[in-house]
Amino acid sequence: MSDALPTQHTPLNRTRLIAPGPVEVAPDVLAQLAQPQMHHRAQAGIDKLMEARAKLTQLLGDPFDAVITTSSGTGAFEGALLSTTPPGARVVNAQAGKFSERWGEMAQRFGYDTALVARPWGEVLDPQEVADAARGAHTLLITHSETSTGALHDLEAIAGAAKAQNPDLIIIADCITSYGVAELRPAAWGVDVIVSGSQKGTATPPGLGFVLFSPEVQARMIRNPGNAFYLDMTRELAGQKAGSTPQTPAINLIYALSTALDRLLSVPHEVLWAEQR
Ligand SMILES: *Cc1c(COP(=O)(O)O)cnc(C)c1O
Repeated sequence: MSDALPTQHTPLNRTRLIAPGPVEVAPDVLAQLAQPQMHHRAQAGIDKLMEARAKLTQLLGDPFDAVITTSSGTGAFEGALLSTTPPGARVVNAQAGKFSERWGEMAQRFGYDTALVARPWGEVLDPQEVADAARGAHTLLITHSETSTGALHDLEAIAGAAKAQNPDLIIIADCITSYGVAELRPAAWGVDVIVSGSQKGTATPPGLGFVLFSPEVQARMIRNPGNAFYLDMTRELAGQKAGSTPQTPAINLIYALSTALDRLLSVPHEVLWAEQR
């Protein structure tokens, strides 16, 4: 296939960039992008959205409902925060690296009552320290795999400790480089919202974000009129459950995503998770 297409850049497999993504994309996934233009309101487009959302849930392994955003992972995270956390609420951000620091900046910029619980870059977060900081908070933001340092935080222990002290806490986890890669059991661990993006573990071109909501957190979702319109996940979730998106999604990428997910779903979760160790 690549013989027919001029390549104007150095393929990723021949660059020396050390980066978590965009990762290499398989030819059958790329080929999905080269079809005649598909339409998101045509039945085939509706079916493809539903199919991709179901596969995202299957990859997670828990009965969470997926929203696909046309944004990078950061946009998906922004939507997750704004659609679960009312204006002015107490937000705790657990940070130990570049990506996790960003979520604290985001919460501050939206005017949340933001507290930071930090460890030096490269270290792992201390579950009890995070739990103590999250006492009385509405929402905890945490990064599972801190790609900037390579640290994989013990999300199970952290969420367990935090929920033991504060059962009403909503935990939003940046799993942008752990979803589909590292062991992730949000229902058992008490994590409410999982955020990821297409260009990392799911090996799809950049441009899609994913937010997966637990059944329990869905009952607590809000419309955040002061902040969210495009990233109103309450509206998106309702629309996407019925097979439609309020705006035009990157439908070509959704086709590619569905094909990419087939490869990941062809092996058991435990096999996928074992490979990253
Ligand atoms: C890549 C990455 C992000 C940023 O995602 P974008 O898709 O670039 O918005 C955030 N967090 C982690 C852990 C990442 O690896």
